Amino acid sequence: MRTDVNSNTDRKLSRTYNPATGVLVGGVPEHTVEELNEAVAQASRAQGEWASRSFAKRAAALLRVRDHLVAQIDEIAQTIAAETGKTRIDAVTTEIMPATMAATYYAKQAERILARKRLRPGNILLANKRSYVDRVPYGVIGIISPWNYPFGIPFHEVAMALMAGNAVVLKVASQTLQVGERLKEAFLAGGYPDGLFHLINLPGSVAGPAFIESGINKLFFTGSGPVGKALMAKAAERLIPVSLELGGNDAMIVCADADLDRAVGGALWAGLSNAGQSCGAVERIFVEEPAYDEFVKRLQRRFAALRVGSNEDHEVEIGSMTTAGQREKVRVMINDAVEKGAHRMTFHEIPQDAPHLFQEPAILTEVNDSMLVMQEEVFGPVLSIVRVHDLDEAVRRANASSVGLSASVWTRDRKKGHAIAARLESGAVMINDHMMSHGLAETPWGGFKESSLGRTHGAYGLEGMTQPRVVVDDIMPGVKKNMWWYPHDRAVYEGHVGGIEFLYGRGLKRRFEGLIKLVKTFLRTFRVD
Ligand code: NAP
Repeated sequence: MRTDVNSNTDRKLSRTYNPATGVLVGGVPEHTVEELNEAVAQASRAQGEWASRSFAKRAAALLRVRDHLVAQIDEIAQTIAAETGKTRIDAVTTEIMPATMAATYYAKQAERILARKRLRPGNILLANKRSYVDRVPYGVIGIISPWNYPFGIPFHEVAMALMAGNAVVLKVASQTLQVGERLKEAFLAGGYPDGLFHLINLPGSVAGPAFIESGINKLFFTGSGPVGKALMAKAAERLIPVSLELGGNDAMIVCADADLDRAVGGALWAGLSNAGQSCGAVERIFVEEPAYDEFVKRLQRRFAALRVGSNEDHEVEIGSMTTAGQREKVRVMINDAVEKGAHRMTFHEIPQDAPHLFQEPAILTEVNDSMLVMQEEVFGPVLSIVRVHDLDEAVRRANASSVGLSASVWTRDRKKGHAIAARLESGAVMINDHMMSHGLAETPWGGFKESSLGRTHGAYGLEGMTQPRVVVDDIMPGVKKNMWWYPHDRAVYEGHVGGIEFLYGRGLKRRFEGLIKLVKTFLRTFRVD
């Protein structure tokens, strides 16, 4: 598998720095748009032969990739932590472990999910037409991924694309280029054909238009809403299909009967892991009145016990944020809430030695809908808690958002949990859990409203890497033509009217008369006029 489209070493280096320490992590040469175009051309040439290989052969390659991950867990976790500032436990639990599970799932299940599907005839009149649907790979899939789960998110998409018989050209975020190199090593270890997979390093603003113009056949983008919308507008010029995974502002509904210890533990993990920089992070917590005071008391106590800092020997729970820009946005949103009357709780000593991007986690109470934290995604370690009178209010306020990625319901009454789930405008709802369904290879990931276009992961994700081709075959022997073929005359008209009456007319008499007209015309299918 060739990944370097050009051996030119006299080129610009893109450097990445550890956001927890400011130390240089490494440099990666920048590609040119011409090299991107060449990569897509090579990928396109390699794809046809790859798609003709059996699922078993494709699965064997993906399982070799998995073997590589298992052998390199520490090195990969180290690189993810170094470029994002997250803890290595976060890296292993939310990126590497789900990647190994995904590789196994796609290797084992892709053949079944993408198998030819025979269709049952939809109408007795056309029962001689037998159809099946094959899932055909698009060709070259372009993938653009973000820095917050720099290994886990692109891994899933590359694995699905290759298993479905596509070639891949991947661009990872500029903050996490060394993680991209670890991905490249992993897919090289799979032994894929030369030219099938490429990792391209271009800044996002250049990569967007360039990918659309490069000849890719579909684009998978994960990132911010504004960039997703701009890419879709650009892709419309060439009718390139796009799949978009964008932001969220997830609601967690805590019912009065919830196990509060479990709910508190879930809120802390799903709200603060990866320093809150998760598209499916808990952001807005709606707690039913009778449970509110106790929930806040227990949350406060366990929140205060969390440790924030550098991750030398797994002695902290929360690492640093990844980009200065995101940290600034989070601070602006917290200040906005406090100025408008929110009560802010923080308890953490954060490392003060610059340069670093640590941010003290915050719990906000007394929040209202005028505050930015309630209206927009907060991409940082902030939990906003709202007291609600009843579950109707909780559902209404949870749904009052332009995005709907995922959500959760916390209750001991599972029936009630499912009933509330059915009312939430979210692509994923977890009962007594949050965010973890992203790590289940079999569940589709994606949201309602402005959170997503299309779905990734599981069967929906694999299908999204292919397009359906239907094949229709006439199994009736001796047929010379369809009833509606030329030449036309009054009898052809009457016969078809009779067909409709026979099928759907009211009353036995009308249906019988229809049948007679139909049969007369039907006989012409065996004649040559
Ligand atoms: P971003 O600025 O949109 O960047 C994401 C990726 O897009 C990066 O690789 C970036 O490259 C690239 N990019 C930037 N500008 C581009 C352009 N004009 N055309 C094409 N690509 C461009 O997003 P972010 O701030 O890094 O990521 C955070 C957002 O992603 C949040 O809103 C989060 O909710 C969302 N997200 C969603 C999911 C999901 O599954 N729904 C998962 C994770 C994150 P450069 O780094 O080179 O600029």
